[in-house]
Amino acid sequence: MYAFQYQQVKTVPEATSLIAAGAQALAGGQTMLAAMKQRLMGPEKLVDLAGIKDLVGIEVTPSSLVIKAMTTHQTVELSGAVQQMIPSLAILAGGIGDRQVRALGTIGGSLANNDPAACYPSAVLALGATVMTNQREIAADEFFLGMYATALQEGELITGVRFPIPKRSGYAKFKQPASRFALVGVFVAQTEGGVRVAVTGAGNGVFRHLELEHALSQRFSPDSVEGVHIDPTELNSDIHASALYRANLVSVQAKEAVRRALA
Ligand SMILES: Cc1cc2nc3c(=O)[nH]c(=O)nc-3n(C[C@H](O)[C@H](O)[C@H](O)COP(=O)(O)OP(=O)(O)OC[C@H]3O[C@@H](n4cnc5c(N)ncnc54)[C@H](O)[C@@H]3O)c2cc1C
Repeated sequence: MYAFQYQQVKTVPEATSLIAAGAQALAGGQTMLAAMKQRLMGPEKLVDLAGIKDLVGIEVTPSSLVIKAMTTHQTVELSGAVQQMIPSLAILAGGIGDRQVRALGTIGGSLANNDPAACYPSAVLALGATVMTNQREIAADEFFLGMYATALQEGELITGVRFPIPKRSGYAKFKQPASRFALVGVFVAQTEGGVRVAVTGAGNGVFRHLELEHALSQRFSPDSVEGVHIDPTELNSDIHASALYRANLVSVQAKEAVRRALA
């Protein structure tokens, strides 16, 4: 690890002014500390967001759930409000990594990082959620820009995510057995605006699958997935799985996600 300065703060403005001066935000550290230990990154200054109370917690409104950026995966998993209003989101959070990752990793860190195999981006995209920052609100359709890339500008801090409550939703992932990230994960949601399907792990970043959305809009049933051809052309091929295998997994996980949404 390279040497760095570490600073704790208690408010968002304190954090953003340090970030504007060149510091990097530290959330749960589950991605960043590992990268720093391997000297893959070497920020000179870190500002720890853990002491900012305004960034922790879950707020319920009649039509939405707001999960603040520093809320851990474990808190989402165990939240009665999330379990009741968007059960698939609690299940998704409970399936992330292992107990240590869930105890420390945060929703804000996960979205800012936008790992192409992360689980949360698929929920945010399929549910048509809104990412809230210290500067503006960004619709999910505009937020994810491909592998590790997002619409966040230099110095912009995620403060929370607003999830509209879907009629039904389900998430299914085939885990990469070593890391437990998604080899392929599919999140399906029946929302006020129609059916939305988001796929993670299969490509260079989370993406919506419009053919699956169309088929499931006609009839929301696992059988509707059968008739949809999943094109492997743009999907990843690596030591873990070929593009063809991933294409098959998209179909299998989509069916399972619909089954779970209907259960
Ligand atoms: C062994 C292991 C298994 C994992 N398995 C899974 C899995 O199955 N599914 C899954 O989805 N994820 C998985 N993860 C990732 C994990 O869930 C974390 O969400 C992820 O590591 C980032 O969250 P963090 O809070 O630790 O962020 P950090 O590592 O602290 O930060 C990550 C990046 O986000 C930036 N950042 C952090 N917070 C903010 C903010 N509020 N605003 C703007 N930028 C910010 C940081 O500057 C940094 O660039 C796994 C991680 C590990 C180590």
